[in-house]
Amino acid sequence: MVYSLQTSCVYGPVNSRRLGSSLGINLLPSDVKLCSFDCVYCHYGVTEVKTVDQADSVVHFPSLTDVTDELRQALKSFSDRHERPEYITFSGNGEPTLHPQFSGIVDEVKALRDQYVPDVPVAVLSNSTTVHLPSVREALMKLDRRIMKLDAGDAETFQAVNRPAPSLDLEEIIEGLCHLKDLSIQSAFMRGGVENIGRRERESWIQALERIKPNDVQMYTIDRPSADGRIERVERSILEEIAQEVADRTGVKVRVY
Ligand code: SF4
Repeated sequence: MVYSLQTSCVYGPVNSRRLGSSLGINLLPSDVKLCSFDCVYCHYGVTEVKTVDQADSVVHFPSLTDVTDELRQALKSFSDRHERPEYITFSGNGEPTLHPQFSGIVDEVKALRDQYVPDVPVAVLSNSTTVHLPSVREALMKLDRRIMKLDAGDAETFQAVNRPAPSLDLEEIIEGLCHLKDLSIQSAFMRGGVENIGRRERESWIQALERIKPNDVQMYTIDRPSADGRIERVERSILEEIAQEVADRTGVKVRVY
């Protein structure tokens, strides 16, 4: 089963396993799925426009005004009810940093947050495919939390799990993550037709974490129906065994969701 794309720039709040009540911001088109990955487990289905080109002219990104108008309305409504989400999160229909005005939108979102819900942190869920760009790292550093995807530590598993746009190189992504400060790593695990829990896959992923030195690692397995029926959930006991190995070898805090 495949979920429909978000049709607006602001959605939710959704009840997120990792962030609690999270007001989502979608910077991607709603009429076509655009992402730099085509993850085998993506609940939005197959990526129709697979690109890392931040100024891809064939699609229509929401404008800065579209985003700020919708967010102002949503936050004003929270404020009027004396309620607040636990997070405001850039996520949505694909990779948020692909929006050509990502940095400027971050500034505006933070200004609206300060005006209406000053204590609420602003986070991003990113697939890390633009983190090699200094300008993107600069924009990411303006946020309160950076939760960056890394599902594989070797090129073969990366290709099988994330099915990246052709120009993407895992080593460049890992190097970019090494240059980003104060980040969380999020990693999805699966088995079946595609898997990343074998000894070889685990080893390369843990070695990448040793280089990146994140603040923490969030591990989970697929929880929603995916477009690719070949993949299956991983038992919690296996995730916990991997988490223990990461904690022992890196000293990094690891949480299984
Ligand atoms: S990065 Fe996210 S939106 Fe893009 S294909 Fe993967 S799961 Fe889907």
